[in-house]
Amino acid sequence: MVSIVKRLICNDWVLSIFLSVLGFFLVCLAGRAQADATVPAKVAEPSPEPVPAKDSPPAPLLYEVIRVPEPGLLHVQAAGLEVRLKAWGIGCPRRDQPKYREALRFAEEELLGLKVKLEVKREFDPDGYKQVLVYAEGNTVSFNRSMIAKGHAWHLEKVTKRHGPFALAQIKAKRERSGVWGESFAYDFEGSSDAAPKPTLPSLLRAQGIQGSGARIMYWQSFVGKVHGPSCAFYSRGSGVLTPNPQGRDCGICGGRQGPRK
Ligand SMILES: [Zn+2]
Repeated sequence: MVSIVKRLICNDWVLSIFLSVLGFFLVCLAGRAQADATVPAKVAEPSPEPVPAKDSPPAPLLYEVIRVPEPGLLHVQAAGLEVRLKAWGIGCPRRDQPKYREALRFAEEELLGLKVKLEVKREFDPDGYKQVLVYAEGNTVSFNRSMIAKGHAWHLEKVTKRHGPFALAQIKAKRERSGVWGESFAYDFEGSSDAAPKPTLPSLLRAQGIQGSGARIMYWQSFVGKVHGPSCAFYSRGSGVLTPNPQGRDCGICGGRQGPRK
């Protein structure tokens, strides 16, 4: 009798433990099921507000165009200096050639006094120009391409390695006989964009009192505004431009434009 009671108690005790453990598992399972059920619903739910883009790209640097001396050339203000740029991959009529005035007028309208975004394609060409793709502020089509599209310039394919947008723009301009394509003049369509517009009549310039047309000295104008002569250790070092008309302070070592002090 005692042993039966003992067994019953024992069994009850075992049973109660069994039941509580089972109950615990059931609660756990129910919890899991509930949790599982809510997960997909949460994922499917659209986020209430779009996540603000934290990593938006920095605003591109804009430069003011202060001079357009020729249809494919522009000077911009950068760090207080005047930097000479050449529109990359295009050839333009020269001063004494047909459609020069039209090309220059268009370039001035597109650029002069405006802010531009620059994409440097070549840091320094042999003439000391930085060759660039130029975008007037707010424009998605480059000035270079617009010049070709209007027939104010031609595509220098060798320079751009047949840049697609330029090639397409030129096909259109040729078809419409725009600008230079309406002329029978023999332009130098193959001409390198490295050839700087040089005075064709140096003797005339000399007569007008412009000096140094023969051997003009190219100075190194650094971006911090120091001017170095060709003999200086800082010549062509770091960021800067080669120019015959530098702006800034003469270097204390080489003397810049003044030359070494004696
Ligand atoms: Zn120097």
